[in-house]
Amino acid sequence: MHTQVIIVGAGPVGLTLAIDLGRRGIRCILLEQKEAPQFLPKMERCNARTMEIYRRIGIAQKIRDAGFPRDAPMDVFIITSLIEPPLLRLPYPSVAEAQADIAAHNDGTRPLEPYQLISQYTLEPLLKSVAESIPAIDVRYGHEFLSFDQDAGGVRAKVKKPDGSVAEFSANYLVGCDGGTSNVRRQLGIKLQGEANLLQLRQALYRCDDLFERIPIGKGRHYHVADDKATFLIVQDSTKHFTLHAVVDSDEEMKTQFEKTVAMPVKYEILSCAPWRQNLLVADNYGQGRVFLAGDAVHLVIPTGGLGMNSGVGDAIDLSWKLAATLQGWGGPNLLTAYEIERRQIGVRNVEASRQASRGRRAWRSMWRPEFCDKTREGEAARAALVRVADVEQRKSNEMIGAELGYRYRGSPILCEEPGDGPPDNFMAYEPTTWSGARLPHVWLDNGTAIQDVIPDGYVLLRLGRSQANAEPLKQAFVSYGAPFSTLDIAGERPREIYGYDLLLLRPDMHVVWRGNTLPNPAALARTATGH
Ligand SMILES: Cc1cc2nc3c(=O)[nH]c(=O)nc-3n(C[C@H](O)[C@H](O)[C@H](O)COP(=O)(O)OP(=O)(O)OC[C@H]3O[C@@H](n4cnc5c(N)ncnc54)[C@H](O)[C@@H]3O)c2cc1C
Repeated sequence: MHTQVIIVGAGPVGLTLAIDLGRRGIRCILLEQKEAPQFLPKMERCNARTMEIYRRIGIAQKIRDAGFPRDAPMDVFIITSLIEPPLLRLPYPSVAEAQADIAAHNDGTRPLEPYQLISQYTLEPLLKSVAESIPAIDVRYGHEFLSFDQDAGGVRAKVKKPDGSVAEFSANYLVGCDGGTSNVRRQLGIKLQGEANLLQLRQALYRCDDLFERIPIGKGRHYHVADDKATFLIVQDSTKHFTLHAVVDSDEEMKTQFEKTVAMPVKYEILSCAPWRQNLLVADNYGQGRVFLAGDAVHLVIPTGGLGMNSGVGDAIDLSWKLAATLQGWGGPNLLTAYEIERRQIGVRNVEASRQASRGRRAWRSMWRPEFCDKTREGEAARAALVRVADVEQRKSNEMIGAELGYRYRGSPILCEEPGDGPPDNFMAYEPTTWSGARLPHVWLDNGTAIQDVIPDGYVLLRLGRSQANAEPLKQAFVSYGAPFSTLDIAGERPREIYGYDLLLLRPDMHVVWRGNTLPNPAALARTATGH
């Protein structure tokens, strides 16, 4: 059986890649060893950038409808238990409040979409049903990828089918989205570098129907217990399920930890319990030849800060258009070369952001003292000291909007490099920029539409501030490669002010290729952008 792309692994990254390839008309087979998506907890927050990407591919509203209620606060607490006054409450807007804030600002500083809390076990079946509705995608659960070989002409994969027989599939490309223990990565001989097995925690999933409504200290999404076991409680999307993480030796203790944290009589059941380990690792390479890697297969972060799946969705969306362009015949060889150059630096960056966030978490946790809960002057002093540190350090996990939106591809052969260093990287703050390689900042147009929603697919030359630049030679240069190209005139003043230039060339993922006030040599610009 032959297809254009074989994707190994239907986690959120493989599913997102399949959906974006499928909607571009690229035929792919998605192989997943599990019989069906499982009801096991992992990630629970799509960040703002991921939601922008999901809006672009038409599924953001579906995700919101399946996720955490839009009016529910996203506050983060540091507590001794759910019934004691919180030591610290960090307020974060509900989706509805964040959307109102985004609607009220037009300065490029806001994302188009805010975050959305949705449990991985809700997201995966949703993405699966979207993938199954796209004719170009052949979704095969119960299919275990065993091995591959590749040559200049293509890739062949051996796959164990549900009946135990082994079949061979061939394709132009293969992508390993097969998670942290990636078989594809191991077969390529690619190593992960960094810090492995930093800490082992246990995570249990609880069903407790009325707990969320009964929390007396206020509703939120994360409740960190100030203790010596790194305990934290996470509200899952239904508000009827919770996960608790703690450094304990046995599953039995997860019952005690939950009851200690909740500190009220509640009816609950434990649905699953398993250990997991914290890692900060990045792969040396993101592929070889016709085989690529994305998601946890190439970067493992501490979930603090939520840069695991969200980084992987960024990989998927970067790789997808480059594969499609190459398969459609208009993409030059530099497109696929640029995948590793662009995304590995983001993997390294996001591992660093995650390290910073987890150090912050450790910093306030290290302030815990045995006398912490005592109603004595010493107890009070210990609590006050912890809160002082937590008020700074815990924010590093929750407020990394710069890490989420402010990434920029550097040193890529398919971007027009600008002289100088560009705006500094700041994980904690987002400054809109159109420096080459940056994500196009969100702006509202005069008619209230988001610019992202009117930008067509393909390469787009934005003409701002009533620029009269002649786009025809550039169009002809793109057409000579068969590449999709259009020009979009944006008359309003605000976008021109925010973007800072009359002309911006965007690529299909809406990152900036080039900016300026007069067009440079059109042939050279089109050649660079299309990877020739
Ligand atoms: C407790 C916890 C909380 C987290 N919270 C967040 C968060 O809030 N935000 C965030 O962004 N990230 C979070 N993460 C990280 C996130 O869960 C992962 O980054 C994400 O699952 C990675 O997605 P993936 O598709 O790359 O890999 P995976 O989800 O691991 O999927 C890989 C898939 O490949 C399949 N597979 C593997 N081998 C084969 C084979 N040989 N053949 C066929 N199929 C195969 C597997 O069965 C699996 O379905 C969290 C992680 C944990 C543990």
